[in-house]
Amino acid sequence: MRKSHAILVTQDLSKEFQGFRAVNGVDLSVEDGTVHALVGPNGAGKTTLFNLLTGFLKPSGGRISFAGQDITGQPPERIAGLGIARSFQVTSLFAQISVRNHVELALQSGSGLGHRFWRTDKVMRRFSGRALELLGEVGLADLADRPAGSLPYGQKRALELALALALDPKLLLLDEPTAGMGLEDVDRTVALVDRIRQGRTVVMVEHNMSVVGSLADTVTVLQRGEVLTAGPYEQVKSDARVIEAYLGADVA
Ligand code: ADP
Ligand code: MG
Repeated sequence: MRKSHAILVTQDLSKEFQGFRAVNGVDLSVEDGTVHALVGPNGAGKTTLFNLLTGFLKPSGGRISFAGQDITGQPPERIAGLGIARSFQVTSLFAQISVRNHVELALQSGSGLGHRFWRTDKVMRRFSGRALELLGEVGLADLADRPAGSLPYGQKRALELALALALDPKLLLLDEPTAGMGLEDVDRTVALVDRIRQGRTVVMVEHNMSVVGSLADTVTVLQRGEVLTAGPYEQVKSDARVIEAYLGADVA
């Protein structure tokens, strides 16, 4: 068996908002090449933890290391440059811009080319082949020339995945990739994540336990900013404390 190796580690990580500890002393360890689910009731601190990992928020305490480097307090551009990309919980697309142009812009922003070249035809042609490839990966190749605003919800989320993949991340953070989706889109998203996990590590906030069960190797359960438990999915799902945390929350 392959020797295990943690690509992402947090130690005693905390974030305070006006004295309120949204993330409180979290030790997280994510093995390279795995899908790691982050679960827990609303308000548990999952999105805040993502914001700390990506540099959108600075920790109040503790450390984060990625691929052996200390990235604590680094700015988002630097962390993205090291190979961490995220998708957002809420959609953040430009309605009028085509699906293909969205991916081209993401490819350009990850390429180190300056804004001097922003959207010149010549530069965009450079990226259009790769953009179509990525759109193929997420099942949107046929919709490349549609304005992003015209896509149904599930396909908007697929486009956002393509934007994160454009950065060719080693670590992909997905914040509720199936939120608000109907069954068919959920199944499609599970298949998609299963495909794009190849050669990467994925950390995923996900409420749907059947999705977690299909995809996740390991699960960390957060509650009120703290790790309640962590381990293989089969072990965590039958943990009495986890069941209680969920029944005590707003999960029907
Ligand atoms: P989750 O994603 O697990 O639902 P969040 O990380 O969004 O939880 O929020 C955790 C807690 O931190 C919540 O109580 C939330 O109200 C609080 N919180 C999140 N962001 C801020 C902020 N910018 N300022 C103050 N409180 C915040
Ligand atoms: Mg959240």
